[in-house]
Amino acid sequence: MKGRPEYDAVVVGGGPAGSTAACLLAEAGHSVALLERRTYPRNKVCGGCLSQKTVRFLDRVFSLPVPALRQAGLLDFTGTGYALYIGSRRILTEDLDEPVYFTGRERYDAFLAKMAARAGAEVHTGAEAAGIDHARRTVTTSDGDRYSARVIIGADGVHSRVRRTLPQSVVDRKRWQNNLGWTLELAIPRREAETLVNEDGPIRLDDGLATPHLILAACRWGYGWVFPNREAIIVGIGGLLSANGGNLRDTFEAFLKSVGLSAFAARKPAGYLLPLGNYIPSPAHEGTVLVGDAGGFTGPLLGEGIFYAHRTAELAAHAADRHLTAGAPLAATYTALLRRRLIPELRAETALRNFVYRCLDARMHAPLAAFMRATNTLVIDAVQGTRSFRGFLRDDDLHSAIW
Ligand SMILES: Cc1cc2nc3c(=O)[nH]c(=O)nc-3n(C[C@H](O)[C@H](O)[C@H](O)COP(=O)(O)OP(=O)(O)OC[C@H]3O[C@@H](n4cnc5c(N)ncnc54)[C@H](O)[C@@H]3O)c2cc1C
Repeated sequence: MKGRPEYDAVVVGGGPAGSTAACLLAEAGHSVALLERRTYPRNKVCGGCLSQKTVRFLDRVFSLPVPALRQAGLLDFTGTGYALYIGSRRILTEDLDEPVYFTGRERYDAFLAKMAARAGAEVHTGAEAAGIDHARRTVTTSDGDRYSARVIIGADGVHSRVRRTLPQSVVDRKRWQNNLGWTLELAIPRREAETLVNEDGPIRLDDGLATPHLILAACRWGYGWVFPNREAIIVGIGGLLSANGGNLRDTFEAFLKSVGLSAFAARKPAGYLLPLGNYIPSPAHEGTVLVGDAGGFTGPLLGEGIFYAHRTAELAAHAADRHLTAGAPLAATYTALLRRRLIPELRAETALRNFVYRCLDARMHAPLAAFMRATNTLVIDAVQGTRSFRGFLRDDDLHSAIW
């Protein structure tokens, strides 16, 4: 077993959450090791949709406004409107006041990891964390390297090994499982999709395949999506495992047919777990904290997770910095930040999720459609981050700086 010098922080996992935490801590002058089990560029099953709150985060925290993101080749497609369906019935076609963007995760994640390295973090790829000793604050990799640190940040995604080593008093495993989602997603090369899309199904995709489509009731307690990108059309469904079971393959085929893409039914979609409301309210133990998917932090209604990966990493990095520089208690500081800045929002979004999916379970499609038409701009503002899900009020504090 090879020992290494003690670091201020070891970050396990180099997705958006891990790279954000590593970058911010390194910028603050701390010694950081980022352990990523794969090598970049690596893909992550994802629709790649960046809402305005994500784009604003990148500008505020990394000084990367939209033109800089574009120049770095991170914005592949711009969505200026959307279509919303309940089953096969279109209930809304709207322009967006501010666009959403679509990225490719290979490039997005590699770019962020490079940024963390440039800030001074040691980025170790091919380094899989295999054992975590929370009391001794060490992480041992499958190659036998041992990293010790004053803080461990678990950013290793929905399958998180770091989370699995935390006690039941921190991770309520029943609640975790009850709100865990299962997704299937297929990236269809744009040229093929444009050639083979037909009008067999009840849902007509627009001619240029340029409009993001969201289809409620494509599966239970979840939805289907058709997201445009430059080179591909991303088609997926995802919903709670507890409502759908783990086999959505037939449902996915039916979904492809409904959007006129039955020509691709024989292709194997990628399956991936997705947190859908199973955020852990106090994801901290000894010197370890969880961020991003590892802690279940995605929007419970849509499963949007890139923003929450960045934001929880920012909060955790701040708590770790206070701990390292001023001796503030790590767990209490992080939990307090989450409680003030994020959990109320996630709780309100969960309430909306429950309302929407209970209406669908009760087949109350017409009243739900009326509700969605009436609240549409408010919900979009909340997704884009200019309003809170709590009463749809304006809330400038939600996404503001904490350092
Ligand atoms: C089908 C699907 C579609 C989605 N679409 C969207 C979307 O359009 N927009 C959006 O905002 N969100 C979307 N999400 C959610 C989003 O992908 C996640 O929320 C986001 O990737 C979370 O980032 P993260 O950094 O926490 O975890 P990840 O991105 O999963 O990164 C975790 C990293 O940890 C590494 N790792 C894992 N285990 C270890 C280990 N033991 N040791 C070292 N490294 C390890 C992994 O290799 C990986 O690089 C989607 C998710 C799914 C499944």
